[in-house]
Amino acid sequence: MSEKPDDASRRTFLKAAAGAVILATAGGPLLSGCGKSGGSGEAGGGPALPALPYAQNALEPYISARTIGFHHDRHHKKYVENTRALAAGTPYEGLDLVPLVRKAAADTERKALFNNAAQVYNHDFYWRSMKPGGGGAPAGRMKDLLAKSFGAYDAFRKAFLEAAVSQFGSGWAWLVEDAGKLAVVKTGNADTPLTTTARPLLCLDVWEHAYYLDYQDRRADYAAAWLDHLANWDFAAGNLAG
Ligand code: MN
Repeated sequence: MSEKPDDASRRTFLKAAAGAVILATAGGPLLSGCGKSGGSGEAGGGPALPALPYAQNALEPYISARTIGFHHDRHHKKYVENTRALAAGTPYEGLDLVPLVRKAAADTERKALFNNAAQVYNHDFYWRSMKPGGGGAPAGRMKDLLAKSFGAYDAFRKAFLEAAVSQFGSGWAWLVEDAGKLAVVKTGNADTPLTTTARPLLCLDVWEHAYYLDYQDRRADYAAAWLDHLANWDFAAGNLAG
């Protein structure tokens, strides 16, 4: 499979990071600076925790700084630490994130490594899938492709929110591109479209840790607020162009 989606994601992330306030809230060697690509750390060092491309309170009132703080500095960081620990001393040590996830996905002996590494990838993608002042219907090529694939933006919105709400238990809702058409998919736990032929464009984390402090059990409200006010269509378009 082509490396293009990830390369495009990195370019978009680097562009976003260069113009943003970076809050380095978790020090130490696991935190890659703004010059590092998402999820890929020191040379040969394996996955690392990327700095957020915005301040922790930048997504308020839709997602609180408290939620982002726990989510990035505790949950995401733990997935990075677990990935590095599980890869240490194995043929996976030092692999970049995307090849690591794909290799582990095909290795039935490495389920824990896959789960943690895929969660690192998914979270990298999630942070970049949202931005302050985002959301609503996109313009340009994304608008045209959504219309071609779903009939209209509202039909896409309904399908995406339905996927987010109907994912039983923990998981993710995604907008992906496959064979020239856009589609909404949902994945359980750590599963990711990265291991399929589809190219991820946007993702929404529907694990309870992503919203419970702000919305408690109202996942539908979180998903709608996210899509209407935070979804980063520039990031989606950048992934498409890659
Ligand atoms: Mn999460």
